[in-house]
Amino acid sequence: MPETIKRSEEDWKKILSRDQYLVLRQKGTEPAFTGKYYNSKEKGIYLCAACKQELFSSESKYDSGTGWPSFTKPISEDRIVRREDNSHFMKRTEILCSRCGSHLGHVFDDGPAPTGERFCMNSISLDFKKEE
Ligand code: FE
Repeated sequence: MPETIKRSEEDWKKILSRDQYLVLRQKGTEPAFTGKYYNSKEKGIYLCAACKQELFSSESKYDSGTGWPSFTKPISEDRIVRREDNSHFMKRTEILCSRCGSHLGHVFDDGPAPTGERFCMNSISLDFKKEE
């Protein structure tokens, strides 16, 4: 299992930008079609913007048309935590980074084969490491 990072919310506020903090630590959602990665087709690895754990490969990224970067699966299941989320009068499954507990987005069951899952992430929760 990856190492767990625990920081106080005061520390996260110092480390993250205000917009990052609102999504990563307060479970906000960036507006669709505004993030920097939804349209990206570059090859590489997407990291947690808060703790830099490697989360998703560009190989599992696809164009969902939703305006958020979408993936069929994480690099491995232990990189993420799935949690039931009943906020906003919806029944959804929230996705958190397993290392630092930051909010990444949600997973839905309308994704393409082979997993049938759509990991709908916030661009602002991710960093990108380009394949060299
Ligand atoms: Fe993290």
